[in-house]
Amino acid sequence: MNYIPFYIPHIPKSTNKSVIQVINSGWLTSGKKVQEFEQQFSKIINSKNSIVVSSGTAALHLAYLAHELGPGDEVIVPSFTFCSTINALIHVGATPVFCDIDEKSLCINPQDIQRKITSKTKAIIVVHYGGAPADMDKINDIAKINNLIVIEDAAHAFLTRYKGQYIGSGNNTTCFSFYATKNLTTGEGGMITTNNEKVSEFVQIMRNHGISKSALSRYGKGGNWRYDVIAPGYKYNMTDIEAAIGLEQIKIAKECAKKRQDLSKKYLKSLSKNIKIILPQEVSDRQNENSWHLFTIRIKNTCSISRNVLIEKLIAAGIGTSVHFIPNHMQSYYRSNFGNDTSLPITERVFNSILSLPFYEDLTDEQIKFVCDMINNLTN
Ligand SMILES: *Cc1c(COP(=O)(O)O)cnc(C)c1O
Repeated sequence: MNYIPFYIPHIPKSTNKSVIQVINSGWLTSGKKVQEFEQQFSKIINSKNSIVVSSGTAALHLAYLAHELGPGDEVIVPSFTFCSTINALIHVGATPVFCDIDEKSLCINPQDIQRKITSKTKAIIVVHYGGAPADMDKINDIAKINNLIVIEDAAHAFLTRYKGQYIGSGNNTTCFSFYATKNLTTGEGGMITTNNEKVSEFVQIMRNHGISKSALSRYGKGGNWRYDVIAPGYKYNMTDIEAAIGLEQIKIAKECAKKRQDLSKKYLKSLSKNIKIILPQEVSDRQNENSWHLFTIRIKNTCSISRNVLIEKLIAAGIGTSVHFIPNHMQSYYRSNFGNDTSLPITERVFNSILSLPFYEDLTDEQIKFVCDMINNLTN
């Protein structure tokens, strides 16, 4: 068996032609393709406004700014996420308050949110871990009672549903990532979806230097050279080349989502007899609403080998895996600036046992069988 990498993006052949067309068109930066990508994105997830940016991190940064999170504000956020969710809070000057996760969904724990609310709390950041939806009804209720803002990090949650509705189509400002390993990729990119017109307008201006006009309206046909800088904004726009890649993926996104569902079922079946591991089936009530960005298993402590040794043995067998995530409260910057003594028992326990398996549309049945046989043998 050839090496099975942790991830290979699924790029349809039609992308080549589409990208070349953009290159030959003479318009490379944010233009018509970006607009079309935003429209198609709104259409597929049913969001009111979709504003594309250069990365998921840029989306988070602008969403935090749009909701005026800043110095003096405490923001409740899971430690169990990629560092950018938290770094962007530092960029706006807010104080992250690390919250534990729910043992089943691995998303933010509503009970721990309650415990961490103080008079300075302004917002709650939700991460839909691995593509499984967080307990949004409970979280939105807590937010409403305490007058808090909710922002959703949906980097894993393109086409995740919660009670039938796509993540990003509701009332909370939501941030997506199109990084190379995400379910929908443009190489690098991100999207903000929002119902709030003020947030939408703010983000459109701030992604383009705080200029009150887009490049298209300046350099497009009939454009005017005048522009006004109304705030010190950022250079967070996406190029038409990237948008063209994204548009081709939106066309096949529903098929890909179905494929990921099928792959998850195959994995679940081949690992179902292994009593040394915990499967995502047991940790997610909402199997069919999951976008299956990640397929993560947990190694029980009754297992004869540790997670770390298992990773080494899988590499030796030619299987790439990954760990999502190293909790942020355990990272040096956050330990030295936000307290060495933060304790999040579920997060820490889950971190020590978790393993993300190879998971992508082009994975073959033989490859899945090989990965599962290897795990079943090694953990026995
Ligand atoms: C990937 C990711 C991000 C950051 O997205 P980029 O596009 O890489 O900036 C943020 N949050 C989570 C949970 C992610 O997995």
